[in-house]
Amino acid sequence: MDTKKLVVGIDIGGTNTKFGMVDRIGNIYVEENISTPFYSDFDDYINALKDVITKLESNVADAEIIGIGIGAPNGNHNNGTIALAANLPWKGILPIVAKLQKFFPNTCVILDNDANAAAIGEMIYGGAAKMRDFLFVTLGTGVGSGFVANGEMIYGYDGLAGELGHVIVEKNGRQCGCGRYGCLETYTSAVGIKRTVSELLAKSNEDSIFRHKSLDEFEAKNIAEAAQNGDKIAIEAFQITGEILGLALANAVAITVPEAIFLFGGLAKAGSLIFDPTIASFEKNILKVWKNKIKILPSELQNKDVSILGSASLAWNYINKGAL
Ligand SMILES: [Zn+2]
Repeated sequence: MDTKKLVVGIDIGGTNTKFGMVDRIGNIYVEENISTPFYSDFDDYINALKDVITKLESNVADAEIIGIGIGAPNGNHNNGTIALAANLPWKGILPIVAKLQKFFPNTCVILDNDANAAAIGEMIYGGAAKMRDFLFVTLGTGVGSGFVANGEMIYGYDGLAGELGHVIVEKNGRQCGCGRYGCLETYTSAVGIKRTVSELLAKSNEDSIFRHKSLDEFEAKNIAEAAQNGDKIAIEAFQITGEILGLALANAVAITVPEAIFLFGGLAKAGSLIFDPTIASFEKNILKVWKNKIKILPSELQNKDVSILGSASLAWNYINKGAL
């Protein structure tokens, strides 16, 4: 009997590290979870990764692990390190690929950041399967993005390319976590839309369910629910968010000219509330030559286990290219 060729997708988060064994078409065979902060020593953590991978392989009959894909905050594809990730317990530059590769010398070990992993997941398992040029934008707590051109992720000179979230869309605008002012992320993330609600409340007397709440008491999804229930402040917040996002996407198109732009994450789940104003602003601001030609679509991974599929897709993408 043939062995089942599988890859292990590992998603490293500040709270949990998730593992899944995944085949070429996206079936997840077994999953596992460990606590990330439990391992205060990075080498202990690497040993734990090795133990889980070995255990997973023995849990699937006739399985052979032919790749390991790792999605991590600040994961650098070019040099295989995680550098200065604020939410992880280890400091400095962590050579995770080199350390794991020692235990699995005949297996490809591929690292990338979470947004790029999700973008490659869209290419291997989602709506970008037949596309060579697309843009993937995550509207989560922050705004992340991955640019794929000619079927290849754009990594840039230092491996960190594709930071659409830190394009400045408003001169002297809101202060961003990066320290600068007016970044896209401060407007079109889950946190950004809350800041917009707060500003709108301050500007008008319009009644709203958010009128007597502080920013900490509600989430972006509550704004979507309120908008669906006719809350004018919430509706306007989505309108403003979409206008800013559409403008930034129209500008991004001028650089790589994607076939489509995929939106993913909490805000993208708001459906037409975010898509309609984004598409209207996108078409209004885009160069004439591309008008009505570039699709803005919801990610097809939205309701799937993107952290495992995205991580696994890093290894499958490498293997599919015939690099192994
Ligand atoms: Zn920024």
